[in-house]
Amino acid sequence: MNVALVDSHCHLDYPEFAEDWTGVMSRARTAGVGMMVSIGVKLSTFDQVRDVAGRADNIYCTIGVHPHEAGNEGLSSPDILIAKSDDPKIIGIGESGLDYFYDNAPREAQQQSFRAHIAACRATGLPLVVHTRDADADTMDILEEEYAKGAFPGLIHCFSSSAELAQRALKIGFYISCSGIITFNSAKAIRDALIDVPLDRLLLETDAPYLAPIPKRGKPNEPGYVSFTAAKLAEIKGVSADDIARITTDNFFTLFSRADRSNLDIGNAGS
Ligand SMILES: [Zn+2]
Ligand SMILES: [Zn+2]
Repeated sequence: MNVALVDSHCHLDYPEFAEDWTGVMSRARTAGVGMMVSIGVKLSTFDQVRDVAGRADNIYCTIGVHPHEAGNEGLSSPDILIAKSDDPKIIGIGESGLDYFYDNAPREAQQQSFRAHIAACRATGLPLVVHTRDADADTMDILEEEYAKGAFPGLIHCFSSSAELAQRALKIGFYISCSGIITFNSAKAIRDALIDVPLDRLLLETDAPYLAPIPKRGKPNEPGYVSFTAAKLAEIKGVSADDIARITTDNFFTLFSRADRSNLDIGNAGS
């Protein structure tokens, strides 16, 4: 591979990574992963996320409140996100959205917090990292309604929704991010939906430590494994692995415009 990959969504502050941090980082480098984004899920633990982003030039982070946490920490105003995101290490807002699969927080609280995150994106110009599960209609209704009030950039992370959601998201300029789910045998409908997503709107992620791709399924996921998802995406799109790396990395820097490309560690990918 001649171009470094980017893991656009992982949770490097989680305890799974503490013990073997050096190993996780060196395996990522060996796999050709040149940049990682550690995603915020709670304001109360954001300092830990910011801390891991401070450990290396090629780690960035986002700030936000996961829909699971919207009952405890849900936001009714974008103000705190706008104030805290004035930081060169913070390149996006989220993850936020709607999760009606687990319903860990009341749906009204999830929706209100989601809209506050959108308002922060509109104010800062930072992209929104959207988490949506079993909530396609409400997620897209809110995104479209808010988009009509004023544009904002974003992506659907860990895409596992319908082809219809993908097409609606594309229409408001959003990107679609592919996780290890696309390697699962059961994910044919998701792979089919990706056929109609243009190459210039695709990103890659692990969502580590969750959702390890085949052939690592059942183990804790880590950024280096994004290479398996890249290979699968290349197969789905009928292009080479090098093309997928080049295109998804370019897309990443287009969407996450605060990330400095000179911090991309070309490591083993450059050889
Ligand atoms: Zn998520
Ligand atoms: Zn996540």
